[in-house]
Amino acid sequence: GSEDGEPGTTDDGKKENNRSLFDDVGFDDLKLSPTLKRHVELRMLLKKPTKVQVAAINALVSPHGNSRDGLIRSQTGSGKTLAFLLPIAHTLLERRKKVDRAEGTLAVILEPTRELAAQVEQVAQKLFRPWHWIVVGAVMGGEKKKAEKSRLRKGVTILITTPGRMVDHLRSTASMQLANCEWLILDEADRLLDLGFGPAIRETIETLDKRAKDVQEVEAESSSSHRKFRKRRQNILLSATLTKEVTKLADISLQDPVKIVLGGDE
Ligand code: ADP
Ligand code: MG
Repeated sequence: GSEDGEPGTTDDGKKENNRSLFDDVGFDDLKLSPTLKRHVELRMLLKKPTKVQVAAINALVSPHGNSRDGLIRSQTGSGKTLAFLLPIAHTLLERRKKVDRAEGTLAVILEPTRELAAQVEQVAQKLFRPWHWIVVGAVMGGEKKKAEKSRLRKGVTILITTPGRMVDHLRSTASMQLANCEWLILDEADRLLDLGFGPAIRETIETLDKRAKDVQEVEAESSSSHRKFRKRRQNILLSATLTKEVTKLADISLQDPVKIVLGGDE
């Protein structure tokens, strides 16, 4: 039954102290597609969104498809994975046309370690399970590179990887399609930087920008920024702590981000 075990809750001592108006928000109160809500409640057995999920869905999902970048600080265990996966899922499911894996990668999710990449892949697999045409895949060096290349050539819509492996494929897998990339997620940014991934992240951003240019410049629009504008990729950075280094990474990777800063234990 759905009573045994509230899957995924973390009441092992990490209970939340600061109650707020977010506490009474259910998935029904969020602007998520009904089929996605049903899946999350009935299949993933989540009773209600966490605070950071409420805030992220409200801030990052735009009905006009013109979504702002996001900077999200919230403690470990607060549910940041679904805070970025739910907006992506919602956006893809609202489209009239089904995503086709041949379009290449639409979301690049960078994780500090293979273990975290595997965890996020599991959550993403569960989340996207009913929509099998949205292909979720992790490449993290646990398999032969040839096998990874072949999966990338066929198309991985939601790609979860580490910055090191990403750069590796950027340099050597010509068949990896990134021209349509719409999301870049820098997850666990403090740990990404602790592990020395700053340069690999910068290279990833530069390459995504370069490869996006040809197809997306057509949609250039005037903006308050003096930089040349492309169709916007939505960049989202998530971290448990906002160190100076994380803030610096946010400055180079995000444009005018919505800031969601929860909790106060810094
Ligand atoms: P973070 O990235 O902030 O450290 P995670 O996304 O890894 O947090 O989630 C931590 C735990 O909380 C996971 O076990 C996950 O399954 C669970 N969880 C996430 N969202 C919810 C929710 N809405 N309700 C209950 N549990 C959740
Ligand atoms: Mg996390």
